[in-house]
Amino acid sequence: MIPLSIPKLNGNEWKYVQDCLNTGWISSAGSYVNQFEEMVAKYAGAKYGVACMNGTAGLHMAQILLGVTENDHVIAPNITFIATLNAIKYTGAQPILIDVDPTNWQMDLDLLEHYLSNQTEIRSTEAGNFSFDTSTNKRVRAIMPVHVLGNIGDMNRMLAIAKTYHLDIIEDSTEALGSTFNGKHAGTFGKIGVFSFNGNKIISTGGGGVIVTDDEELAKKARHLTTQAKVSAMDYIHDEIGFNYRLVNVLAAIGVAQMEQFPGILKAKKAMDAYYREHLNEVGDIQFQAIPEGANPNGWLFTFSTSRMRELLAYLNDNGVQSRPFWMPMNQLEMFKNDIYITKKDVSASVYQNSISIPSSAGITPEQMETVVKTIKKFYTLVR
Ligand SMILES: *Cc1c(COP(=O)(O)O)cnc(C)c1O
Repeated sequence: MIPLSIPKLNGNEWKYVQDCLNTGWISSAGSYVNQFEEMVAKYAGAKYGVACMNGTAGLHMAQILLGVTENDHVIAPNITFIATLNAIKYTGAQPILIDVDPTNWQMDLDLLEHYLSNQTEIRSTEAGNFSFDTSTNKRVRAIMPVHVLGNIGDMNRMLAIAKTYHLDIIEDSTEALGSTFNGKHAGTFGKIGVFSFNGNKIISTGGGGVIVTDDEELAKKARHLTTQAKVSAMDYIHDEIGFNYRLVNVLAAIGVAQMEQFPGILKAKKAMDAYYREHLNEVGDIQFQAIPEGANPNGWLFTFSTSRMRELLAYLNDNGVQSRPFWMPMNQLEMFKNDIYITKKDVSASVYQNSISIPSSAGITPEQMETVVKTIKKFYTLVR
């Protein structure tokens, strides 16, 4: 079976992990943690990085850092991996789901603007002017764009919208390490960005995440809150309800080795993306995810749409090519059914019905890619 997405561990991973074991520095203190978060922040062009045990914890922490509570709304795209929405729900806030663009599958910015201009109003409070949803009277605090599949929407337009409506931006950049918009890295447009290093991401620490920000206070607070909010090096004195969210040194050691190889891995992913786009072009009724002008995606997980998605999915998995459907839209899940969903044509439903992800491991070989393409072509000759 050609796997969907597995990590490539050909560098210093073993050496650095061994170093942790040999020295006894296996837990949440240790130099690899600092080194890893610095490497990620520097790569993305952010001033600070704070390593977390996974991307979900990072996204949860981001909500807390910006003060999101049960009195707030946070705006998110209706098509994303569940963790985005879970992070919002952990705080008690209510998500506002926005349908996606039919071509690039990112949050539809026309619908976002439509919602904000028609269903919110700006009210002045003691803390400043903020947008409130006129049906719930809750403050709309932040937008959480998700750079779906490593692709990236028009971030300049989103920044302008956020400014007009007094909203913060938390970027779910968990899939987008290495993606840029107009040369600026995903994760650095908003106040906070979060990367994930889960097993299936572009590089991996097994489990892990890094919060990036240019705001020194937020970075300090993140470091404090992810380590149980302990105020003294000696005494067990804590000044807030904290979290045990820090990444451990053993995993950060893998992360340092992965970051060392990241430029090469990114190049390979982009070559893979180009290969699939060239060789699957006009095969059956395949449609590729559109890349917005100015976007330079990392090519994380190759996904396309076809009206025969379910048949193709079964065929590929039966013929040695591991493939997966896309995420079920959030509004269709039991937990989010009653949340506000802003849509005109429920594009999410059709994107979900038609999209399929194919093998995209960092270490995928040219022979494997050729087999994937051949198998897909064979399917379309059979069903013609
Ligand atoms: C992977 C992912 C996450 C969560 O990251 P973990 O490290 O797995 O917790 C969140 N959002 C999206 C869109 C993801 O793809």
